[in-house]
Amino acid sequence: MQRLNELAVHLSLHPEAAAGAAPSTTAHGTYHSAPSATSNSSTVSIDLLNKFVDKHNFATRKAMWELLKEPLFELDYNMSIKQLRDLTLRRLQRLSDLGYPYQMLDPNSTPESQMEVYARTDCMYMYDCNLTVRVGAHVNLWGGSVRNLGTEYHHEKYLKDIAYNRLPGCFAMTELGHGSNVKGLETTATFDKATQEFIINTPTESAQKFWIGNALTAHAATVFAQLHIGGVNRGIHAFIVPLRDANGKIPHNIRIADCGMKMGLNGVDNGRFWFNNVRIPRMNMLNRMANVTEDGEYLSMIEDNDMRFGAMVAELVAGRVSMIGGSTNLAKVGLTIAVLYSIARRQFGPDDSPERPIMDYLLHQRRLVPEIAGVYAMNATSHYVRNLWVNRSADFDERIRQMKEIHILASGLKALSGWQMRQALSTCREACGGQGYASWNRIPVLMADSDVFMTFEGDNNVLLVQVARQLVKEYARAMEKGQAGIPQFAKPTDRLAHMAGTARGVPLSAAKPVVWDASAQRFVEVNLSAFDNGSKHRNAEFQMRIFEIREYDAIKRLIAALSAKKAAGHNDDSAWNLCGELAAVCGQAYIERFVLTRFIEDIQTESSAPERLVLEKLRALHAMWRITTQPSFLAYQFIPRQDIEIMADEVNVILAELRPHLANLVKAFGVPQHLLPAITSDYVAAHSWAETLKASEFKGNVFHL
Ligand SMILES: Cc1cc2nc3c(=O)[nH]c(=O)nc-3n(C[C@H](O)[C@H](O)[C@H](O)COP(=O)(O)OP(=O)(O)OC[C@H]3O[C@@H](n4cnc5c(N)ncnc54)[C@H](O)[C@@H]3O)c2cc1C
Repeated sequence: MQRLNELAVHLSLHPEAAAGAAPSTTAHGTYHSAPSATSNSSTVSIDLLNKFVDKHNFATRKAMWELLKEPLFELDYNMSIKQLRDLTLRRLQRLSDLGYPYQMLDPNSTPESQMEVYARTDCMYMYDCNLTVRVGAHVNLWGGSVRNLGTEYHHEKYLKDIAYNRLPGCFAMTELGHGSNVKGLETTATFDKATQEFIINTPTESAQKFWIGNALTAHAATVFAQLHIGGVNRGIHAFIVPLRDANGKIPHNIRIADCGMKMGLNGVDNGRFWFNNVRIPRMNMLNRMANVTEDGEYLSMIEDNDMRFGAMVAELVAGRVSMIGGSTNLAKVGLTIAVLYSIARRQFGPDDSPERPIMDYLLHQRRLVPEIAGVYAMNATSHYVRNLWVNRSADFDERIRQMKEIHILASGLKALSGWQMRQALSTCREACGGQGYASWNRIPVLMADSDVFMTFEGDNNVLLVQVARQLVKEYARAMEKGQAGIPQFAKPTDRLAHMAGTARGVPLSAAKPVVWDASAQRFVEVNLSAFDNGSKHRNAEFQMRIFEIREYDAIKRLIAALSAKKAAGHNDDSAWNLCGELAAVCGQAYIERFVLTRFIEDIQTESSAPERLVLEKLRALHAMWRITTQPSFLAYQFIPRQDIEIMADEVNVILAELRPHLANLVKAFGVPQHLLPAITSDYVAAHSWAETLKASEFKGNVFHL
C-alpha cells in the first residue's frame, strides 16, 4: 500500500506533468493546451542505450539514413497501386546500383560483411516495408535460393546479375492448393534423359503458383516442384525457370497473372504462374542437396527423404532470421511515435493545473511500456540469432547440425516476434487516439504492411507447432538412448545441446517442477521460497526459474496428452491434431524462456552502468508482465498465488520508476527524425494553417491530397 501511495505521489509530482500548459502564444497563433516537451529528466544516455540496441555497424546505419533522405525515398501515402509499385522498383534499383545486395549474395561474403547487410536491413524495415519485402523477395528469396541451394555453376552464372538487378527474379514455392504444407506441392519437374532437360508443369488448377512476390516484373524464378525421374517421385526440389526471353517477352507456355490489391504491401507485385511443358536444361536444377546425372541417376549426400527436405528448407531460413529483426524494428518505430506523442499530448488533469500528459496515466503506461520491454528483449534475441546465422560452418555435417538449431529458433522467434509486433503496433495506434489513424502518422501503414508477417515465411501457428514437434522428437530420441524424460532445454552455455545428442532427460514423474542444476550436475526440485527476500520478484534468477517451470510444465503436459491420445487409439496425426493448443503453448514457452535468457545475458555482457539499472527494470517488467498476464503461467497454479499478486503490484511500481526514462528508451531505437511524423514533437505547430499551406495543394478554400 505504501508503495502505491509513493506511486501516486510520483505521478502527481512528475516534472513533465508540472511543466506549464497554460494557453500560450507563438508565431503560429494561440494554443489552448501546449504540448509538453519530449525531453525529460532521465540521465541515461540515449547514445549508450542506442549502442546497446544496435550493437554493430553504426557508420553503415548512418550512411543508410542519409541515403534515405534522397527525394526518391520520400514517403508518400497517397499513391495508386501502380505508382507505388513503380516507385518501389526504382528504389530497389537504386540500392542494387550501389551494390548492396551483392554483399548479401557474394558466395565469399564474410560474417562481417553480412552483418553490414543486416544493419542496412534494420534501417529499411524502419523506413518502408514495401521496399524491404521487395528487396527480400528478390535478394533473400530468389538470390538466396540460388546461393544456398545452388552450386558453383549457378553462383557464377547468376549471382552477380541478380545482385545488380539485371536478372530480376522471384521465389515460387506457394501454390493455390498448398502453402504451409510444402511437401504437398503439385507442380512437377520431370527429367527427360533424351534431351537432358526437366519439363515443368502445372498439372491442376490448384497447382498454380500463387502469391509470388515480384512475379509481374521477374525474368526468372526458383520454382519448387516434385521431381520425377523414370516414374519415381523424388520429392520437392528447386529449379531455375526463365520466365521471359532476352527481349522481355513471356513464352507462350507460361501464364502470369496479378494477385491484385492487398491489405498492405501494394508496392510489391504478387502474382500467379501456370507452366505448360516448360523445358529447362538439366543444369538448372539447384543441386546442392541432390543431383540428377546425365544418365538420370539420382544422387544425394542425405539419403533420408525427410532429412533432405528438412535440410533444404533450413537453408532458406534467412528470411525468418531477417524477419525477427524486422518485426522488432517496426515495433520500434510504432513505439517511438506513440511514446513521444503521449509525452507531448495532454488530456484532463487536476483542477486549476495544467492538463496531464497522457503518458502519465498509469493505464496508458500499462499499455505501452511492457511493449517497450518486449522490444528490448526481442532485439537482444534477434542479434543473437543473426550472429548464429552469419557464423555457420562451411563444413557440411557441422552446418547441417547448426542449421537444425537455427531453424527451430528462427521459426519460433519469427512467430513470436511477429505477434509481439502486431500487438505493439495495434496498441500504439490506439494510444495515439485519432492521430494514430492518420496514414501520415505512419502507424496505420506499418500495421497494414506488416500484418502478413504472421503468414508469409511460414504461418505463425504452424511454426509454433513445428517447434513443439521438434522438442518432442528430441525427447523421443533421448528416450531411445535410455535418458528417460524430456530434453534439457537450451542454456546460455549449451544452446540446443540436446539436439546434438547430449540430451539429459528431466524425470516426467517428478511431483514438483525440476530444473537442471549445472553446478550440481543433476536435476533439482525448484524451491521458489529459496528466493525469499525483499526484492525476489524482480530477481532475474527467480524469474528465470518461473519461465523454466512453465516450459517444463508445458512439455510435460503435451507429452502426457499425446501419450493418452495414442493409448486411446489415435494415430500420430490425429493425436497431434487433438493436442494442437498444448503444442502451441509448448512452443511459446520454449521460445519465451529463450528470449528471457538472451535478454538477461545481453544486459550482463553488453551494457554498462548507469543504463544497466534501467535495462534491469525493463527486464524485470518484461518477465513480470508475462507471468501476471499469460494464461499458461496462471492456469495451472504452479506459482504461488501470493507471488502473482505481489508481481502484479510490482509492475505498477516499476512503471513509475521507468516513466522518466521513456523518451530516452524509445529515442535509443534510433529512428531518424526525418522518418518520424510531426505528432512526435509540437503537433499543434505542425498542424497549423501555415504548415498546412506549405504541405498541401490548395484549390480555392479546399485542400486536395
Ligand atoms: C503478401 C504475400 C506475399 C507472399 N510472397 C510469397 C513468395 O514470394 N513466394 C512464395 O512462395 N510464397 C509467398 N507467399 C505465400 C505464403 O508463404 C503463404 O501464404 C504461407 O506459407 C501460408 O500458406 P497458405 O496461404 O496456403 O495458408 P494455409 O497453409 O492454407 O493456412 C491457412 C490457415 O490454416 C492454418 N493451418 C494450416 N495448417 C495447419 C495445421 N497443421 N494445424 C493448425 N492450423 C493449420 C494456418 O495457421 C492458417 O491460419 C506470400 C503470401 C502473401 C500473403
